[in-house]
Formats: sequence, structure tokens, C-alpha cells
Amino acid sequence: MRKDRKSPRKPSGSDPYRKIIKTHLPKGYRLKEITLRGNTAGYATSNREIICEPITDRERLFVFLHECGHVHNRHLRKNIDIPAWQEEYEADQYAMIAMRAEGVQIPMVILDHHKNLVRLALNIDQDGTDNVKVLRYAYGKDWRLHRIT
Ligand SMILES: [Zn+2]
Repeated sequence: MRKDRKSPRKPSGSDPYRKIIKTHLPKGYRLKEITLRGNTAGYATSNREIICEPITDRERLFVFLHECGHVHNRHLRKNIDIPAWQEEYEADQYAMIAMRAEGVQIPMVILDHHKNLVRLALNIDQDGTDNVKVLRYAYGKDWRLHRIT
């Protein structure tokens, strides 16, 4: 028998992540869930948008919360003067604390990823100029789009 697959997403009422999303989406921001190409997972934009893959699992929830973390930590401000690894670290921390507070287990792959960031950060020059590795860590193939010039 053919099943009607018009709506692949569950109705929002039964989706346990919707409440978490609502709690953490920064004030004045819109969430856009789209299928992104490549291995780029998410963006926070200066147009007050969080763009990420449809939030259907814990990894994607983490990515969303990470982007929220950038906004909540005011990383999108123009005059911010902290190294890229620290921005990524703070965004990860925000997401991890949020996941734990919401009782959602952090996927192993995310924890490994975060350990890599810490390892990178430890190897970065004191002046923070070696940001390329961190941007690769954060954005994968599309890291150049995020390079601050
Ligand atoms: Zn990030």
C-alpha cells in the first residue's frame, strides 16, 4: 500500500526539539531550516537569521545551538577582537551546556570534534593568526566564506 508522504516532518507539537529551539533562538532571529550543500552545517547571519539543516537529530540540534551560541556570545558584532578558535569554543560551550540542561545527550561525534578544536587551539600561535585550521574545523569546505578580512 502506498503511503502518503506529503509531509515528511512530524507536526511540531510532537517534536521534542521544537521547545528547545524556541528557548534558545536569539531574540529577533529567524530560523531557516534548509538542506545545505557540502559539509557546512550552519550559519548565523548579520540579517538575524540562523540557517541550518532541518533539525531532526541531536547532531543538527547541536549545530543549531552552536550558531545560537555565536549570537548569544555577541560574536557577530563588528568590533569583536577574539581569535576564531575562541569564538568556536564559546559557541560549542553554549551548545553543550544547553544540551545538558535540556537532557539531550551530546553525540560522540560532536565530543570528538570539540576535542579536535581544543587540540587546534593549543597549537595556534599566541597572536591567534593561524585561524585557517579553526575555520576549517568550524565550516569544513566552505571555510573561506567565513574568513574575516
Ligand atoms: Zn561556529
